[in-house]
Amino acid sequence: MSKLFDLTGKVAVVTGAGRGLGQGLALGLAEAGADLALVVNRTAPEETLKAVEALGRKAVVVEADLSSEEGAARVSAAALEAYGKVDILVNNAGIIRRTPAAEHSYADWQEVLDVNLNSVFLLSQSLGREMVKQGSGKIINIASMLTFQGGINVPGYTASKHAVAGLTKALANEWAGRGVNVNAIAPGYMSTDNTEALRNDETRNRQILERIPSGRWGTPEDMKGPVVFLASSASDYMSGHVLCVDGGWMTR
Ligand code: NAD
Repeated sequence: MSKLFDLTGKVAVVTGAGRGLGQGLALGLAEAGADLALVVNRTAPEETLKAVEALGRKAVVVEADLSSEEGAARVSAAALEAYGKVDILVNNAGIIRRTPAAEHSYADWQEVLDVNLNSVFLLSQSLGREMVKQGSGKIINIASMLTFQGGINVPGYTASKHAVAGLTKALANEWAGRGVNVNAIAPGYMSTDNTEALRNDETRNRQILERIPSGRWGTPEDMKGPVVFLASSASDYMSGHVLCVDGGWMTR
């Protein structure tokens, strides 16, 4: 059974790997045997890098601003140059801008769409093309509870995460028959920098906890099992799925 989840010899690209959920995702893949391309932007990569190397896996660091087309192109080129192939792509980098819709600036809207959606398309396109050529690959996009719900004061973020699910399904339809699985993980409320403002707001924090059947915020470690599942042959017959890792939030 353990062979089903074994990623030995696989190369994985993880964006936003320097901290938060991206760090948990990268370490989960490394624990299962994968070598890594750690994509970072303005976050020191050392902590993740050391942890991957301590597991006996290889890792290269790629610095890139994924709000631009050029940044996404650089990631694909650097990963392919370092390893000669990519088996797993985890589109995790993401940003959030919390402002009511009436005051939401167009610049914020655009930046959120650039990082959370446009880079997901560009990286999936350039590395997915290579995966189709090699006849195998796994693309895992990081969605959100706001892939399903409207959220509060985050219109750009919600629009981007709904679109991530649509893109996941569109790519899955094209590539499922060509050996490439495209799926998504929708994390619930996870304790990272992205949600610090919510945890610092006593009322929101209490309301959120009251709705989570598991009774706690999620952690980067909670992402490890689900990502290894979707990156491994254990999920070969899954395509276009959005897997909730949310302590039961969506069941309430
Ligand atoms: P985080 O803020 O700790 O991490 C975000 C990562 O994205 C960082 O590593 C950052 O460097 C990277 N990033 C941001 N802008 C970038 C850019 N322009 N170019 C390249 N990289 C960039 O937050 P997180 O919670 O770890 O978020 C990771 C992903 O999970 C995001 O897509 C987020 O939307 C999603 N998510 C988080 C939660 C949660 O509760 N924390 C819930 C659902 C979905």
